[in-house]
Amino acid sequence: MALVSIPDPASPDSAARVPEGALLVRMPTSPIAGGNLVGARFERPAGVPTIDVRSPYNGALLGSVPDSGAEQVAHVVAAASQVQRAWASTPIKERSVPLFRFRELCLARLDELAHSAARECGKTVDEARAGVLKGLEVAEYALGLQNLDLGGSLEVSRGVRCEVRREPLGVVCGITPFNFPAMVPMWMFPIAITLGNCFVLKPSEKVALTSLMLGELMLEAGYPAGVFSLVHGGKTAVDALLEHPDVKAYGFVGSSKVAAQVYARGAALGKRVLALGGAKNTIILAPDADPALAVSGVVASFTGCAGQRCMAGSLLVAVGECDPLIDGIVAAAASLRLGRDMGAIIDGAALERLEAAIARAVKEGATLRTDGRRPTAPRAHEQGHWLRPTILDHVSPRSFAATDELFGPVLSIVRVKTLHEALEIEKASPYGNATSVFTQSGAVAQQVSDQAESSMIGINVGVPVPREPFSFGGSKASRFGHGDITGAGGVELWTQLKKVTSKWAKAPDGTWMS
Ligand code: NAD
Repeated sequence: MALVSIPDPASPDSAARVPEGALLVRMPTSPIAGGNLVGARFERPAGVPTIDVRSPYNGALLGSVPDSGAEQVAHVVAAASQVQRAWASTPIKERSVPLFRFRELCLARLDELAHSAARECGKTVDEARAGVLKGLEVAEYALGLQNLDLGGSLEVSRGVRCEVRREPLGVVCGITPFNFPAMVPMWMFPIAITLGNCFVLKPSEKVALTSLMLGELMLEAGYPAGVFSLVHGGKTAVDALLEHPDVKAYGFVGSSKVAAQVYARGAALGKRVLALGGAKNTIILAPDADPALAVSGVVASFTGCAGQRCMAGSLLVAVGECDPLIDGIVAAAASLRLGRDMGAIIDGAALERLEAAIARAVKEGATLRTDGRRPTAPRAHEQGHWLRPTILDHVSPRSFAATDELFGPVLSIVRVKTLHEALEIEKASPYGNATSVFTQSGAVAQQVSDQAESSMIGINVGVPVPREPFSFGGSKASRFGHGDITGAGGVELWTQLKKVTSKWAKAPDGTWMS
């Protein structure tokens, strides 16, 4: 059976030509002193503690940002509020002009953005570059909004016309996770800002430095001061943003536990919140699957971004006799090289949690097909946080290894006899982000896409992220609130409808509306 090997060392782009152990991510020459973006100025408020940002690759100190409290949040929001009305009343075609420039600037500095994201969140530079480009797809979608019909009008009765308009909400906020320092913020602010809102970004404090570059690029693109702002910090800053009466809506992306809290608090305050949470994505493997597609698809899904993405397929449900395919998956995963084909784990606490989870799964009866714990790190990576791909076989479908989000390069394999059993496992998941199936049977694919409860389905695709204009969003514990975060979902999230009914003369044949 011909199985694909990952990666292809013959590829001219392959990192295989770089000597073993070399650090492929550029580190800054000195730590960056980051600040909140207030109006057009980056401010590091005096007397406010700071948070260090370190590289998962080698522990290097990359910089620090303020650990903002309510006072700093109020300062940032005030600057945004000051310009919001003027921005909202600027025609959408004018509001779109800086976004063309922002896109060009991001492309011109793609390499820099990719290295920044990679070095602070631990992914490979190629993965980080892909993240920036995916974020720019949302900017391209937002650029099209000026040409879409964002309202409507109808004569509802003789001489009476109803018009519906989409209006911005005011100052809105994005709270983002560590695993996509550029892309997840870009899921939100291009659409929100183009539709007339002023946007305050609260990036993850673990990867706060790429957002500084985004802030610089937004100013350089020509956005008026205050249209895009940054406030750094952790829970205290988020709480202050939620409580602030001038912040009208929130896009949150992060763990389900925090998503649920943010959603509940925001809703209790009468705010609009869409909070995307974590995931445990199922991949159903049928014995008839195309080996090349299945092996590369499964391995890329659970090891991409070192398994630290909400679309990682970390539960493989193998239906019937799948041993040759699973042997291929194990071999391909074991061949990945740390620091080159797969990145690092975000921090020491996450690494310890993952190592403990693997030990617990084995204690509960799983078979270790590859054990990624404590790899020998090359010197350039000695202080980093590393785990090789780890595959647990014969996992019980009810055990934590099959149901909990582990958020690392760990694949749990559950064996079942029928597709029906596989679908029952999928449906029992508390999460609802993604489900994939690898098969050559159209009937099996259709059964999975019809019956699975996740909102994003892959057929022979291991990471079924919808590309623009299709919107991104999950269900169940992967999403609190209504709608999706990108595409048409983003337009819904960041606007409200105003309905205007007008009459200019008394109708001669009066109806109940006259
Ligand atoms: P996290 O929930 O720890 O943090 C997310 C954001 O919330 C950060 O900005 C953080 O500062 C803030 N925060 C943390 N604790 C808080 C608290 N108690 N109260 C208020 N705010 C708080 O998530 P993370 O570890 O940065 O990111 C990983 C998680 O995000 C994973 O669960 C992953 O699946 C999920 N994620 C989901 C999606 C999606 O689209 N569904 C996308 C990316 C990541």
